[in-house]
Amino acid sequence: MSAELELALERRIGKRSAAVIEKHLGITTVEGLLNYYPRRYMSRGELTPIAELPLDEDVTLIARVLSSSTRQMQARRGTITDVIVSDDDGKQGLRLVGGRDYTGKVPGTLKISFFNGFKAKNELLQGRRALFSGRVTSFKGKLGLTNPDFQLLDEDPFSDSGKDPGKLAAMPIPVYPATAKLPSWKIQKVIATLLETSDLGSLPDPVPPEVAAREGFLPVADAYRLIHVPETAGDWKRARDRFRYQEALVLQSALARRRAQLAAEEATARRPVNDGILAAFDHALPFTLTAGQASVGKTLAAELAQDTPMNRLLQGEVGSGKTVVALRAMLQVVDAGGQAALLAPTEVLAAQHFDSIRRTLGPLSSDGLLGGLAAGDGPSVQVTLLTGSMPTAARKQAMLDAASGTAGIIIGTHALLSDNVSFYDLGLIVVDEQHRFGVEQRDALRAKARKPPHLLVMTATPIPRTVAMTVFGDLETSTLDELPKGRAPITTHLVGLAENPGWVARIWARAREEIDAGHQVYVVCPKIGTDDDGDFSPGEAAPSGMDTEETRELASVTAVVDHLQGEPSLAGVPLAPLHGRQDPDLKTETMAGFTANRIKLLVSTTVIEVGVDVHNATLMVILDADRFGISQLHQLRGRVGRGGLPGTCLLVTALEPGHPSRRRLDAVAATTDGFVLSQEDLKLRREGDILGASQSGGRSTLKLLRVLEHEDVIARARDDAQAIVGGDPLLSGHPELAGAIEKYLNPEKEAFLERG
Ligand code: ADP
Ligand code: MG
Repeated sequence: MSAELELALERRIGKRSAAVIEKHLGITTVEGLLNYYPRRYMSRGELTPIAELPLDEDVTLIARVLSSSTRQMQARRGTITDVIVSDDDGKQGLRLVGGRDYTGKVPGTLKISFFNGFKAKNELLQGRRALFSGRVTSFKGKLGLTNPDFQLLDEDPFSDSGKDPGKLAAMPIPVYPATAKLPSWKIQKVIATLLETSDLGSLPDPVPPEVAAREGFLPVADAYRLIHVPETAGDWKRARDRFRYQEALVLQSALARRRAQLAAEEATARRPVNDGILAAFDHALPFTLTAGQASVGKTLAAELAQDTPMNRLLQGEVGSGKTVVALRAMLQVVDAGGQAALLAPTEVLAAQHFDSIRRTLGPLSSDGLLGGLAAGDGPSVQVTLLTGSMPTAARKQAMLDAASGTAGIIIGTHALLSDNVSFYDLGLIVVDEQHRFGVEQRDALRAKARKPPHLLVMTATPIPRTVAMTVFGDLETSTLDELPKGRAPITTHLVGLAENPGWVARIWARAREEIDAGHQVYVVCPKIGTDDDGDFSPGEAAPSGMDTEETRELASVTAVVDHLQGEPSLAGVPLAPLHGRQDPDLKTETMAGFTANRIKLLVSTTVIEVGVDVHNATLMVILDADRFGISQLHQLRGRVGRGGLPGTCLLVTALEPGHPSRRRLDAVAATTDGFVLSQEDLKLRREGDILGASQSGGRSTLKLLRVLEHEDVIARARDDAQAIVGGDPLLSGHPELAGAIEKYLNPEKEAFLERG
């Protein structure tokens, strides 16, 4: 870092401004502030009059606040702030409605709603003028904006700047991520001061000169100026292109370096044997592997036999048979004298894997108790379950078996990561349903092996190429893209109660038909009890659909169980609740009852989302389905239609047709192609959810890069990064890039060092 930039921020922008910036934005360095980019730019030339608002389009408008009111939502925690604005300065609106009891029928006025809009509530006071920017939606026939970006204009820094009006109209207005106390225009003023007072010529540039020349990039200093104080839209676009590429390059270089480091590690080769457990398993397998399973199996077998660690991501559609592929890899390692650990995201799933793997192995599994019987009959492996909620004695025994090597396959939750768990010779780690485990957890497990173990990460949500490159960029990828033969298709129907309230009764009648035919039913609810926030799985986006007129109570496991017990069409049907707050023994017992077909109908939360495998289940009813994300819904419905019986999934919603949150449901009902859905999902979700701290390999989230939109940028940066790291593994010839990677991976540490 140059001397210029080591100077404290306060020397550049003044003590008071520096204190405000630190307090509200947590930024303490010159570079930190320069890298605080505008979130978007608004232009006055593109203003839309309220009278001409187009539905479903992004608009920018300047309007004055006529009134504002905030109320508590009834069914959910949170508030709704409704702001009525007018862009004819309220002349008509004020006269007609007195600014208070707005009916939505006054021309030239618009209702803008904010969900938990504390900033809106505090800033958008009657009489204030602001620039709003967002997408026009319709609710109950009225046009409106929901949670738009806005910027107060009362103290518009440009309003009296003396610039000529023509130029002013064309000048983009940068909009910074702001807080109530620190509005966007103030941030802009401070950054403009910083740019004036600093010599940016000495700023480090992580982009190597030859790449910058090829891409025609602006020099760093110019790019900073144009991204913060653009005179034309072309200015900020050029600047943004540069920083976006830079971001991609830093990220890809970090990943390339990690790949290189992993590849340079030495692992124990686990070569296949001819007469081991794997051979016996393959011989007894009741089905033929799909072509995909066979070819991925070959790849894994070859990589496990190498003395460099395998680091592979296996993605495959729900039901594509990833478990068998993983199990065969585990058996190869066991045959070669090592142990394999299978890490599952939940206790229910770990227990399921434990049961189903032992069942699948049959006599090849030497159960702790029956071990004596299997002995002498050929090779066998002990499969051990290790979870946090196990009784102490059983857990101690499991830990002992893992440490002594008695257990060949150890299945568990994150309890496997705890310090007091050790392994005799851990050769392979399989991480199931990756979206709940991050790089750090993978590393914690890897550290438990004497030599770096082989790693197989499985994910059931198919991942678009660029996301794989970014989120799992340190792993090689394999894909299972076909389902086993004879798999019956799942039919998904959207059941809109707003249009057809009578359908509720038909749903339960339908459930009864399935049960009478000998099959089983899942009913999934978004909440456990009547007064909680639900049981959303961590790592999933809490659904963001916002109903401005929220009054209904969401379906909860307890209420639905109560209701179904009195439901005439289900009289006499054994049913049970299942959710995350139950005692682990009860959960296990309930799952066992459902697996054994004693329980016919299971009312649960998303605890059954991943991996649960009951072949006889044919119907899934998802209540208030609009409360779940796309990938969650796709995962959920993958629980039915698994045993050659056709599956049906009913997505039940009380939202009106056309409500934005129904888009997710339409998407899920329209296709069972996981790749299509994950694209759709990413479009509807915020980027931060995908590149969450736990998965990106670094703690900062991306600022300008969007993994779906910028596929070509990511691909080019990946090639560049691979070439740079290939020729200079330690990056000693690229100190500025190396510095940027450190900062990306350890932003807190960096900030600490700069401050100290
Ligand atoms: P997922 O990829 O969703 O984890 P699983 O591994 O749970 O899928 O497999 C789903 C079901 O399909 C399991 O019951 C498994 O035994 C079965 N299965 C796996 N491979 C095949 C195959 N080649 N032929 C038939 N059934 C298979
Ligand atoms: Mg699975």
